[in-house]
Amino acid sequence: MNKTAVFPGSFDPITKGHESVIRRALPLFDRIIVAVGKNSEKSGHFPLEKRMDWIRHTFAGEKKLEVKSYSGLTIEFCKEEGAAYLLRGLRSGADFEFEKTIAHMNRDMRSGIETIFILTLPEYAHVSSTIVREIIRNGGDASIFVPAAVALK
Ligand code: ADP
Repeated sequence: MNKTAVFPGSFDPITKGHESVIRRALPLFDRIIVAVGKNSEKSGHFPLEKRMDWIRHTFAGEKKLEVKSYSGLTIEFCKEEGAAYLLRGLRSGADFEFEKTIAHMNRDMRSGIETIFILTLPEYAHVSSTIVREIIRNGGDASIFVPAAVALK
């Protein structure tokens, strides 16, 4: 059976926290689709294509990994892609409470999709795209929080 997982998010930009979750999930699945959400209300800090390119470069040569963009319901995207698993990372109790609600609602909608959580490594528990963007907006150097392939300037 082909085990496909979708890892959805904004990845604005991808951080070492995201990278670590993906690397640890790769042995568990035959295919992981990193799905960059197109948000109709806000366009994001970095352009969609740039965010996708950074992810592709970070995982260059990794045959199990694909990067796609999507809009609409994540579970619909999973169905279109034949993915039975939704991958999410957990940093804190707050992440857990938020993710739990979504996972239960996805289940209520009878999607048949199983949400798989990967607990962050302690060294990345405080790393977030939001703070990375905040550092950049204020002229700081956020490169220690992002994969080497990400050029933030
Ligand atoms: P969203 O736009 O849904 O908030 P993000 O792009 O910020 O998503 O993150 C996508 C996924 O990665 C989420 O499951 C989030 O909890 C997880 N994540 C973000 N940062 C980290 C981190 N430092 N360690 C582990 N998981 C993380």
